[in-house]
Formats: sequence, C-alpha cells, structure tokens
Amino acid sequence: MSTDVEQFKIHDEPFYRPQRGEIDLYRAAYQERLPVMIKGPTGCGKSRFVEYMAWSLGRPLITVACNEDMTASDLVGRYLLDANGTRWVDGPLTTAARIGAICYLDEIVEARQDTTVVIHPLTDHRRALPLDKKGELVKAHPDFQLVISYNPGYQSLMKDLKQSTKQRFCGLDFDYPEKDLEIAVVAKEGGCDEAVAAKLVHIGEIARNLKGHGLDEGISTRLLIYAARLIAQDIAPDAACRMALVAPISDDADIRATLYHAIETVF
Ligand code: ADP
Repeated sequence: MSTDVEQFKIHDEPFYRPQRGEIDLYRAAYQERLPVMIKGPTGCGKSRFVEYMAWSLGRPLITVACNEDMTASDLVGRYLLDANGTRWVDGPLTTAARIGAICYLDEIVEARQDTTVVIHPLTDHRRALPLDKKGELVKAHPDFQLVISYNPGYQSLMKDLKQSTKQRFCGLDFDYPEKDLEIAVVAKEGGCDEAVAAKLVHIGEIARNLKGHGLDEGISTRLLIYAARLIAQDIAPDAACRMALVAPISDDADIRATLYHAIETVF
C-alpha cells in the first residue's frame, strides 16, 4: 500500500525566529544526512525549529512523541488482523525511512532503552531498518534523516540515553530565546503587545532563576505564550499568570508565593 506523502508535508512557513546559527548548522547536517539531537528544556522551541527546517528543506516530517510504554513495534510496525487475515502495517519510523521524511522522535529519553536501540542501524553507514517480524530489510530513502529531542533536565541514572545511542548524533544546544527575541515570539504567538510580552518574559526570567532552588525547570516560552493568550481573552494579567505560569509548574507553597509576588510586582 503506498503512503500519501503529502499528508506529512508542511505547506505554510512555520513562524520561527533563529537564535544563533542553528539553521545553517542543521542544514549542513541534513546535507550530510547526519542524525541530529536537539537538546534543551521543554517548551523552548525545539519542535518548532524542526518543523521550520522540514518546511525549509521541503521534506515531509513525521513526529513521534515518545513515552515509556512505547515498544519497538510502535516505531517499526506490526501485523494486524483484519477481515482478510493478517496485514503488515508500517510504524512511523519505517514510513519515514521509506518515503525520505525527517523523522522526529520527541523526548526520546522517555522511551525504554530496548525500544531506542531499533534506531541504531538507521543512524550509521547501514542506513537500513530490519523488520525482523516481516523478514524485510528497509533501505532508507536517500532523503531520510533522524532527529531526536532531549531534555537534559530530566535525565537520571534510570532514564538516560546510552552512550552507544548518544554517540550516533550530532547535538544542537537549545535554550529559551534571549530576551528581545522571546518578547517578539511571545507577542506574535500570544497575540499581545510587546509591553505585555516584556512583562511576561520578565516573570519568566525570575522563575528561571529559581531553577535548582525549588523549581526543577523554569517557565517555558510555551507557558509565557499561554499567559499572553489568556490576557488576549481579557483575563486580568495576574489571574492569567497564576493559571498559565504558576499552577502548572509548582505545588510548593513557598515557590508559589515567590512567583505570586513577582507577578504582582511586574504587573
Ligand atoms: P519544545 O519542542 O522545545 O518543547 P516548542 O517548539 O513546542 O517547544 O515551542 C514552544 C513555543 O515556543 C511554540 O509556541 C513556539 O512558537 C515558541 N518558540 C520558542 N522559540 C521560538 C522561536 N525561536 N521562534 C518562534 N517561536 C518560538
């Protein structure tokens, strides 16, 4: 059965503001078909960047949100039973390898290590994916590329990529956009004016300084955009900030009090 490639194409230019040379670096890696690991905290623009690059390179994009229950079959494919008997269905990784898509495995650390190893033969000179259950070796399309995202904050001894997996990728370090850029992004994506965006970004900065002092992770650009969108719906700024910037990230009374105080001071 042939795959409709068009469904994976990105037709409209995604809004993406470059940070520091990552577009040229990624493009060079793609020209060499090198696997790329994008490292950075959640909600800082990694997925948007991959969408932008897929659009810019004119490649289809297949994204997989990884989780700990994911098995190798979820990536590679499996036999399904239907009225006519059994039928093989490709998983997203196999589809991407066949059609020459960019395959983006989001939060790869969430997947178990026995799942992660299925990507190995696609990431070295073999560029092939063995479908053991089907008895087929899929040779990757020349345009296929593998990209993974990785949040360094989450890793623990139990949950980390093996060196044998890490060392198959080049890495791009991402972080929250620098101040002026983040203000522009929050204003554009959140539909608020730059003055409001600047205040939200300032609260973000304060919260990010609490990382390691009671907060595991700072407030993401994504959450700042949520706050802006609530404000755009005529929600009072302090209520919007409490809902979007405080409630999701901490249950600790002291941290919440600190953040509430910051919101009151800024707005
Ligand atoms: P991640 O994949 O890192 O968890 P996303 O790519 O989903 O995060 O980004 C979260 C939000 O931040 C998106 O709405 C995106 O618009 C915005 N964003 C962050 N950085 C940028 C940027 N440089 N240009 C445009 N949007 C950005």
